[in-house]
Amino acid sequence: MVDFGLTEEQKAMQKMVHEFAEKEIRPRAEEYDQSEDFPWDVVKKAAKLGLTHFWFPEEYGGIGETDAITHFIVAEELCWGCAGIGTSILSTGLAASAIMVMGTDEQKKKYIGRFCDPDNPRLGAMCLTEPEAGSDVSNISTTAKLDGDEYVLNGTKCFITNGGIADVHVVFATTDRSLGWAGLAAFIIDKDTPGLSMGKKEKKMGVRASHTAEVVMADCRIPKANRLGGEPGEPGSTSGAFGAISMLEHSRPGVGASALGIARAAYEYALEYSKNRVQFRKPIHLHQGIGFKLADMATKIDAARLLIWRAGWMVNNRIPFQRGEGSMSKLYAGDVAMEVTVDALQVLGGYGYMRDYPVERWVRDAKIYQIWEGTAEVQRMVISRAIAAHGK
Ligand SMILES: Cc1cc2nc3c(=O)[nH]c(=O)nc-3n(C[C@H](O)[C@H](O)[C@H](O)COP(=O)(O)OP(=O)(O)OC[C@H]3O[C@@H](n4cnc5c(N)ncnc54)[C@H](O)[C@@H]3O)c2cc1C
Repeated sequence: MVDFGLTEEQKAMQKMVHEFAEKEIRPRAEEYDQSEDFPWDVVKKAAKLGLTHFWFPEEYGGIGETDAITHFIVAEELCWGCAGIGTSILSTGLAASAIMVMGTDEQKKKYIGRFCDPDNPRLGAMCLTEPEAGSDVSNISTTAKLDGDEYVLNGTKCFITNGGIADVHVVFATTDRSLGWAGLAAFIIDKDTPGLSMGKKEKKMGVRASHTAEVVMADCRIPKANRLGGEPGEPGSTSGAFGAISMLEHSRPGVGASALGIARAAYEYALEYSKNRVQFRKPIHLHQGIGFKLADMATKIDAARLLIWRAGWMVNNRIPFQRGEGSMSKLYAGDVAMEVTVDALQVLGGYGYMRDYPVERWVRDAKIYQIWEGTAEVQRMVISRAIAAHGK
C-alpha cells in the first residue's frame, strides 16, 4: 500500500516543530550567520522539547520515537527555520548513530544517555574526514595502536561538525594501514581526554551557526573498552568500515530533509515576493517567465520530499536500500536545494542579492548539502554501483 498521508502524531510533531522554528530559530538566523557562534541558547530550548534526542531508544534515555518519517519532518522544519541552527540541534545524531550501529549495550547505556538530558544538552562529533581522506575514506591515516589496556590515537581530522566542543568524539582510525578499509575501527574519546584538542575553527560560506573545526589527537590514550564494536574476532564485533557505511547510509535521507527545509523556505519567500512585486503593471508571478520558475521550484520540492519519505517508509519497514534509495534522496534534495535557492534569488532580482534579504543566505546554506556526508558525485557512485549490482 502507498500512503502519502501523515498520521495524527506526525502532524502534531510537524506543527510543534514548525512553530518552534518560526518563533525561536528564524528570528535568530541572521544574527548567528553574522556572529558564527554556536547557538547554545536555541539548542537548549530545543533540548527541553526533546528535539535533540527524541529518536534515541527509551532504554538508553531517549524518547523512543523511532519512526524515520517523523525524523525527516523534524529535520525539514528545523532547517526551514535555519539550516545552521538546525544542524546544531541535530548533528549529535551522527556520533550517536555510530554508537547505536556499532556500540555494545554497555557503550550505548554509557554514552547515548549523555545526549538525552533535556536540561543539559551535550554534543557528539563524528570524526571521519582527514586532509588526505575526504571522499576516499580508506585513506585514513589517523592511527590507533594498542598498548596494554589502552589505545593510543594520533592524527588530525578536518571539517568536523562540533569538533573540539563535543562531549563525545567518535573517531575513525586505522589499526593497520596496509589493510585499507578492513583496518578501520571507530573509537570513543571523552571530552577532556589528554591529547585531544581542537585545531583550526573554520570560517564558512554557509551554515555558520554550526561549529566546524579540526580535531587533533596527539598520543591520546583511551581505554581499550572505548573501541566501538568490540575487538576484532570477538562475537558480535562490527568492523569500523561496515559501521561507517551503515551509519552514513541511514543518515542520508535526513540530510536530504534538511536541504529540503532550505529549499522550501526560499520557495515560499519567493512566491510571496512575486505576488507583491509589480513590474510592467502586474505582479511578477503573472509574467510567465517567473510563474513557470515558481512552478518548477514547487515541483522539485515535492519530488525531493517524495524520495525522502520513500526512504523513510523503507527504513520503517526494514527494507534495505538495494538501489541506493537513501543516496538518491540526499543527492536529489541537495541538488534541488541549490537550484531552488538560486531561482528564488532570481525571483527577487537585485533585492535577492542584498544581505538585507534572507535569500542569499539560503543560497550559501544550500551548497553544503552537495558536499557533506558524501558529495553529490559520491552519491552517484553509490547509486550507480547499487543499480548495477541489483540488475535494474
Ligand atoms: C561544513 C562541513 C562540515 C563537515 N562535517 C563533517 C563531520 O562532522 N565529520 C566528518 O567526518 N566530515 C565532515 N565534513 C567533511 C565532508 O564530509 C567532506 O568534505 C566530503 O566528504 C568531501 O571530502 P573532501 O572535502 O576532502 O573532497 P574530495 O574528496 O577531495 O573531493 C573533491 C571533489 O572531487 C570529487 N571526487 C572525489 N572522488 C571522486 C570520484 N571517485 N569520482 C568522482 N568525483 C570524485 C568530489 O565529489 C568533490 O567534488 C564536513 C565538511 C564540511 C564542509
